[in-house]
Amino acid sequence: MKRVYNFSAGPSMLPEEVLRKAADEILDYQGCGQSVMEMSHRSSTFQGIIDRAESLLREVMGIPNNYEVLFLQGGASSQFAMVPLNLMTGSHKADYVLTGQWATKSWKEASRYGETKVIASSKDKTFTYIPKLDPKTFTPDADYFYICMNNTIYGTVYHTLPETGSVPLVADISSCICSEPLDVSKFGLLFAGAQKNLAPAGLTIVIVREDLVGHAQELTPTMFNYKTHVDGGSMFNTPPCWTIYMCMLVLEWIRDTVGGLEEMQKRNRKKAKLLYDFLDSSKLFRGTVVPEDRSLMNVPFVTDSEELNTKFVKESVQAGLVNLKGHRTVGGMRASIYNAMPYEGVEKLVSFMEQFEKVNG
Ligand code: PMP
Repeated sequence: MKRVYNFSAGPSMLPEEVLRKAADEILDYQGCGQSVMEMSHRSSTFQGIIDRAESLLREVMGIPNNYEVLFLQGGASSQFAMVPLNLMTGSHKADYVLTGQWATKSWKEASRYGETKVIASSKDKTFTYIPKLDPKTFTPDADYFYICMNNTIYGTVYHTLPETGSVPLVADISSCICSEPLDVSKFGLLFAGAQKNLAPAGLTIVIVREDLVGHAQELTPTMFNYKTHVDGGSMFNTPPCWTIYMCMLVLEWIRDTVGGLEEMQKRNRKKAKLLYDFLDSSKLFRGTVVPEDRSLMNVPFVTDSEELNTKFVKESVQAGLVNLKGHRTVGGMRASIYNAMPYEGVEKLVSFMEQFEKVNG
């Protein structure tokens, strides 16, 4: 068996020891004679799994008691509608900051359900920075203020949060959940597709302050109402059982093997530094993001030649480094170095880049 280093933006690598544990338990989960893939979601065994996944997430992220944790389906993209349907219910106004494709999609969707205002955008420079925000321009009576915290395609991240006062801050944390400590109490709602840092695809995590639940717009479909899922303990309908189980294993890994989110952050900073330092010293490659807004998770980079970019991606695959092609809308290259990417994977990438520069620079 030869495993590759997978730099995909998601689904992405899972920790090898988690995959091994899942493999060990695949036919018989802890002596119950069946796989988690086969078992009823109404069984006490599965109830134990979802309860443990939730309590681990609460512990690892330090989620306060006045927040609900939901395990849903429909991807982060469904949250683009669920957020406005559930939260745009007072003034029917919301503020959005456009820092990339996902924030823009979310804003467009919300505009179907209420009045949205674009507070700032970094589209003028292909989303290579996080715009400076002036609270004086925020809508004082907005139902919420929306950001995409880590911008997967463009490789930017908010290092400081907007000061929204009493307006609930909502953040899409799909590509940075559990990559470093986050003060949940600063947010009204957080959501993430789990397929980057926490699990295989199929699970969407929502963390919502309890007072924001229960006021959904009249037309909200039952399945899109947070209250449905709070009342049903994330089991109003059949949940993605196996993905929740995998999420539980990954959270155990973060807590017990890594040692929690502060340690996770140290690992992620060390990996990102190795790659950014190389990019800053290279004469062939350069990072595309302004240094102060660089993401720890997604690192886009280019050479000045389309031909060399294509050659690089092709040759990297032969070296066991896969999915380094940039997003189809921006081109170039992108290395997604999520939690499960080992330091050795980034070392291998950097030494491959050095080699490539020697030959082609
Ligand atoms: N938000 C962000 C920041 C993302 O990176 C992605 C997916 N790459 C999405 C939303 C959409 O997620 P999903 O495919 O789970 O709908």
